[in-house]
Amino acid sequence: MCYTGFEDLTAELPATVDLVFIGAFTEAAQLAYALSNQFRSRGAITVIGGPHARCYPQDAQLYFDYVLGFTDKSVVNAVLNDCAPHRPMGVYLSASGQPTSLPGVRERWKFIEPTLRKAPLIKMVPMLGSLGCPYHCSFCIDSVVPYQPLDFDVVKEDLTFLLTKFKRPLVAFHDPNFGVQFDSCMDAIEEAVPAGAVDFAAESSLSLLSEPHLIRMKRNGFKALLPGIESWYDMGEKSRTGRLRGIDKVLEVSAHVNMILKYVPYVQTNFVLGLDGDEGAEPFELTKRFVDLTPGAFPGYSLLSAFGQAAPLNLEYQRQGRVIPFPFHFLNNNGAMNLEPRNYSWSGFYQHVIDLTRYSFSRKAIFNRARATNALIPKWLNVVRAVSSEGYGRINYYTEIRRRLDADPQFRPFFEQLTTELPQFYVDRVRKDLGPMWDWLPEGALYHDANAYLKSEILPEMETREARLVV
Ligand code: SF4
Repeated sequence: MCYTGFEDLTAELPATVDLVFIGAFTEAAQLAYALSNQFRSRGAITVIGGPHARCYPQDAQLYFDYVLGFTDKSVVNAVLNDCAPHRPMGVYLSASGQPTSLPGVRERWKFIEPTLRKAPLIKMVPMLGSLGCPYHCSFCIDSVVPYQPLDFDVVKEDLTFLLTKFKRPLVAFHDPNFGVQFDSCMDAIEEAVPAGAVDFAAESSLSLLSEPHLIRMKRNGFKALLPGIESWYDMGEKSRTGRLRGIDKVLEVSAHVNMILKYVPYVQTNFVLGLDGDEGAEPFELTKRFVDLTPGAFPGYSLLSAFGQAAPLNLEYQRQGRVIPFPFHFLNNNGAMNLEPRNYSWSGFYQHVIDLTRYSFSRKAIFNRARATNALIPKWLNVVRAVSSEGYGRINYYTEIRRRLDADPQFRPFFEQLTTELPQFYVDRVRKDLGPMWDWLPEGALYHDANAYLKSEILPEMETREARLVV
């Protein structure tokens, strides 16, 4: 079953099962914990895999019998063969790397079809052409996963299959960084389907989006691209801006994105707010300048977040004591920034974020974006996203957080790590979002050890040292 956030879990999930696998992002962890608790109470064995299990294995072990890191068939087989309760601490299992092949769309169709039926307007089929990434952005979970293309014959078969299901399929490539082996990938698409018979969306880095590549992508039906820019002072490698910084980088990246927009109607540019390289108002002002210079691009903002042991940089953050144990439920890059900003006070930081978000989704910016977008659906999408929870919704949410930093006596001590007592505001939100599953949330599951990664690295070292001393 694919839970999209709207289903009635109590009605849809089977009551009696022997073994339950749950795949979850960290923002769904509390729901996953509650479900595991409910299933265990009925005698089932529970397993968690996916991003949350990779980022927070120690915490997940408290609530599941098995916690899976990299998962391939041998790991799944190991679980099936053992299939026993492991409590109070679950067993952690991991393959040495990502699987070398994954089931194609035809095999996944029985899951994809009912999920797409629930999508009201845009029915996007998720596909993968590769795993991992050759770049090393230190905050990213894929920066330590070696790049590997998946079998292009499977991609071809998937596309041919989709043409039997839709008049004009829409495929979203979920590769961490699409197009690293650009020619092989385009060859596969061109061999499988006539030019333009399928619409594509992909997340890619600017360094891969040269004009000759874009010409070929346009011919092949690419309609949406999501390049990451991240910062004006960092991450030059992936945008191929090298040592360019500040306004020079803004001008270069803006010209590049405007060129992309000549070939691809929908472009979302992604930024991370609060990176250590940023200081003062300038990074935010530069992003506003970018919004003016690149009116056709939809700006996507994420608050800097450290997802457990996702990335090596997180060890450094934990060593510096900067990670705040916001409940997992809020770790979606917007609900909370779980890192003390290096160069900003909390109030100052949120003020800048509110100001930038307001600017980016002001009437003037929405109008400019609509005017700069030619195709009808991208134009409509840009407006809807701006006036919905992504634009206006976030402005309201950040404004509320900023207000509470002054008005709510529980806020600042928690943000400044003077206490681990969670402000009631956050407890109430989790309760509301979990609905009836709140009652199944295990005791203590709103809290986690924000430094578990560091401890897992340091403790074995200390034990080895102590053992040596004893010898
Ligand atoms: S280019 Fe993208 S996917 Fe690759 S390491 Fe950087 S952020 Fe991660």
